[in-house]
Amino acid sequence: MMTNRRTFLIACSSGVVTLALTVPVLSQSGASSAAPPTALIEDLVAGNRILAMEGVLDGMGHISVRHPSRTDRFFLARSMAPELVTAADILEYDLEGQPIDARDRTSYLERFIHSEIYRARPDIRAIVHCHTPSLIPFAASDVPLRAMYHMAAFVAEGVPVWDIRKAGGVTDLLVRDAKLGRALAQGLGQKPAALMRGHGAVVVAGSIPNVVGRSIYLDVNARAQSQAIALGGKITYVEADEAKLRMGDTNEYSRAWDLWKRKVAR
Ligand SMILES: [Zn+2]
Repeated sequence: MMTNRRTFLIACSSGVVTLALTVPVLSQSGASSAAPPTALIEDLVAGNRILAMEGVLDGMGHISVRHPSRTDRFFLARSMAPELVTAADILEYDLEGQPIDARDRTSYLERFIHSEIYRARPDIRAIVHCHTPSLIPFAASDVPLRAMYHMAAFVAEGVPVWDIRKAGGVTDLLVRDAKLGRALAQGLGQKPAALMRGHGAVVVAGSIPNVVGRSIYLDVNARAQSQAIALGGKITYVEADEAKLRMGDTNEYSRAWDLWKRKVAR
């Protein structure tokens, strides 16, 4: 059974390669990077579908990854529901938030979230922007999100709340330009995630598996914290010194990633 599933996954990988070559999303334009990183694009497609499967993203929200060799570029799907993304839908962007070879494909309005965080945080290689319902109460109240358990230890580093009104006055709450993207990147600072008042959140990490894992467990953590608050007693959170030991694992979600990826390949 395992062998069959593995074969299926490999078949899927081959399909992605074929698609990337027959639909020259990344390789047609001379301005595009020379070598399309197929495995990375495959993981980005999987990341889109996993986050939809886990309820972190619905029809909205997005995930991106920095180009592995051109650090001033990143990959992000065209404007569409994450669950439907394929390799042919992935566009390459510069740090101005401009697509390199868009042709007739439209871009997410909020791509400046990604471009400006990649510009501000050289350590970051993957970003998720989500509107996950469990996070909205914490983005709207002065109750800080705190780490409830080891799977969300990164929360102990602090999750600031960014208010778009301070940067842009009265807006429709969307990060529509580079100026707002820059303000959000400043609000995030060196933290692993930031909540966006009246909107959602942004989550960052050094890899696709980790940003997907953090996004999923940020959601689980928020639900657990709301439940603990509802119980009404004293809550004992994971403390920073405990979390630091857990954060030493740079592949914190690798085992779960293998499982999630297989689920969306079925
Ligand atoms: Zn949004």
